[in-house]
Amino acid sequence: MPSESGRKDFESTKKMKGVMGKYFMELMKGPEEGQKTAWCTSVGPAELLRALGFNVYFPENHGAMLGATRMATDLIPVANARGFSPDICSYLTSDIGSYLKGESPFHKMKMPGPPKADVLVFNTNQCRDVKDWFQWYAREWDVPCVGIHTPRSVGELDDSIIDDVAKQTEALVPALEDVVGQRLDIDKLKEIVGLSRQCTDLWKAVLETAANVPSPITFFDGTVQMGPAVVLRGHPDAIDYYETLLAELKQRVADGVAAVADEKFRVYWEGMPIWGKLRDLSTQFLELKTCVVASTYCNSWIFDALDPADPFRSMAHAYTGLFICRSDDCKEQYIADMVAKFKVDGILYHDAKTCPNNSNSRYEMPQRMQQKLGKPYLVVNGDLNDLRLYSEEQTRTNIEAFAEQLAEA
Ligand code: SF4
Repeated sequence: MPSESGRKDFESTKKMKGVMGKYFMELMKGPEEGQKTAWCTSVGPAELLRALGFNVYFPENHGAMLGATRMATDLIPVANARGFSPDICSYLTSDIGSYLKGESPFHKMKMPGPPKADVLVFNTNQCRDVKDWFQWYAREWDVPCVGIHTPRSVGELDDSIIDDVAKQTEALVPALEDVVGQRLDIDKLKEIVGLSRQCTDLWKAVLETAANVPSPITFFDGTVQMGPAVVLRGHPDAIDYYETLLAELKQRVADGVAAVADEKFRVYWEGMPIWGKLRDLSTQFLELKTCVVASTYCNSWIFDALDPADPFRSMAHAYTGLFICRSDDCKEQYIADMVAKFKVDGILYHDAKTCPNNSNSRYEMPQRMQQKLGKPYLVVNGDLNDLRLYSEEQTRTNIEAFAEQLAEA
């Protein structure tokens, strides 16, 4: 059914709201029921934490909620006043601002707010900011903060790198066992890695339906639909949800239902979403009959390497093979493959001011890719959460000009 913006909503979304609502309820109840809470970075060792029986919370999900609700605008300055630079990750500054001011989107859902951590577990595969972010809470609450230091700009993913990250992951176990008060059951870990792999395979299949012309799903839908893949990987609820969503998408494809009516152009989104402007951007692309069919961001929760038979090594492989910690050569090959698979006409690079880690337009990549692929590109200057860094008018004009370029190409 079309929403008021003309976008076609998914029937499955009602079910997703139920799945996410249940996750949040259980997350809040966990500490009351004596469960220990672990904070985990979005591409951290979630499977290990679940296998140990932790109540697992992902602060970046809260960061995205602060951005999408635009609460971040008032909260970032609170963290800035405390001493966090306006130039660093605006998930970090929104979240710490939220804690300091005592305001959270959870309160609007009649929930108490993010659960206090008993331990914080990071992986620097994505950036150093997550470590600084978690260490701040560790000092605030006097609880342990442990993590994995993954190399960055990784070219070939060889055995020495995978062995190192696998050993670092395994080395977390004693500290985590001390916090949770129980031993790791390796069979439980294998089971959870298996569930995570099933979730990831389904999420990949969901995103790959966009290779159809016309596409049944857009990047903007993906940013909403990805919730369970981020916070519930390793849990059966995520698998159940993506089976439902995938069936609906296959039906859309069979019926020739397009996410963007009269789809004319297909675009790849490179970089972070602009959370507070998703709706406006989705509407503009809809009006331009342009479908943003694929993105690096939504694909970041596809972990093809997970293997229940070899949990630590396969987790190391999956979490070090991510786009964000790879060399520019690997990234360029990845984007070229995506452009071919999704029949993309042009590439939009979001230069997110406070996330250099997820901004790939700063060292001539768009120009190199244009030379290689002969596809037009656009760089949008903005941010994931800090809307002071985003010009609505300029972006709108630039996207219109980009659509004209696509028409001429
Ligand atoms: S990758 Fe970027 S947005 Fe994500 S936590 Fe790190 S700095 Fe923030």
